[in-house]
Amino acid sequence: MTESLSPHFSADLLAWYDAQAVALPWRTPGLADDAYPYRVWLSEIMLQQTQVETVRPYFARFMAAYPTVNDLAAAPLDDVLKLWEGLGYYSRARNLHRAAQMVASEFGGRFPASVEGLLRLPGIGRYTAGAIASIAFGLREPLVDGNVIRVYARLLDIPDDVTQPRVQARFWEIAGQTLPEQRAGDFNQALMDLGRLVCTPRSPDCVSCPVQAHCLALERGTQAERPVKPRRAPTPHYEVTAGIIWNEAGQVLIAQRPHDGLLGGLWEFPGGKQEAGESLPECLMRELHEELAISVRVGEEFVVVKHAFTHFKITLHAFTCAYLGPDDGIAPQTLGCAAWVWVRPDELSRFSFGKADRQVIAALEARRGMLL
Ligand code: SF4
Repeated sequence: MTESLSPHFSADLLAWYDAQAVALPWRTPGLADDAYPYRVWLSEIMLQQTQVETVRPYFARFMAAYPTVNDLAAAPLDDVLKLWEGLGYYSRARNLHRAAQMVASEFGGRFPASVEGLLRLPGIGRYTAGAIASIAFGLREPLVDGNVIRVYARLLDIPDDVTQPRVQARFWEIAGQTLPEQRAGDFNQALMDLGRLVCTPRSPDCVSCPVQAHCLALERGTQAERPVKPRRAPTPHYEVTAGIIWNEAGQVLIAQRPHDGLLGGLWEFPGGKQEAGESLPECLMRELHEELAISVRVGEEFVVVKHAFTHFKITLHAFTCAYLGPDDGIAPQTLGCAAWVWVRPDELSRFSFGKADRQVIAALEARRGMLL
């Protein structure tokens, strides 16, 4: 396996970057020392698993609401989650908030200017630390993510399974060896732009690729076979129920998910995953006993929502329910949730919900609009 690129590679890549550098709102070097690392960090956290165009409006809203890391640190977590609503992968928002508090309290409001220091912050892995260190602080640090792996796997025509830790370690070595002496941040951004805009997963634009002269996969016609990954197991699918539980005052019961775990800290219509051998109404009644210790009368299936998470898919069946009361005769309990509250339908927008639950709310609003 050939694992080095010619010395001209970085010069060719940087020349292309200089000629076409994409204007992105977080690419604003020259700001005051602590402002630029904050912007780079915020954008890098948002860009994890998320497209640039999706991130743009969120980045603008966060910068308007929290112009500095100290502002973000001082904000209530619920406000941060609300502003993050719709961006997905909510553990990022919780870690963002914790990291901001750490920067504010332990580092005097300034991001640590080293990979080791950055790795101490919640939500920052080796890739993000490399990105912030090289882009915001100009340090000669490499970064490797799926984009970078794809580009190098093609440039060097690497036939090995890129999901193997041993092979990933080699990509870090390659990325480190290929970094130019100067402009490591620009080089890393150029590499990411190349992967995002030219050397794309399904149809790389080799004809207009600025580094085609260096590409072994192009020479050998193996672009479509690189990078090599094992065939994915089919994505599991679950049937999930949720209760739109009404009381006699015309309020609905919502529950806050436990703070750790999937969609942690977000609110939801309570319910859960169907188990083998039970009907959907049976599933819902069981879940409500387990989570909140309450009884309901399950009515019509109000709406069905399909949603895909990273590693599984769900079909969410939301049922209209009438509240019968708490199991202990006093009040619902927080057995499987962080909190619960009765709200009027017009108050739901004050709370942060995941995407599937927001579709249930949209259906509720549409139904109310028809009834008015
Ligand atoms: Fe990717 Fe094609 Fe460029 Fe090679 S020539 S780096 S496969 S876009």
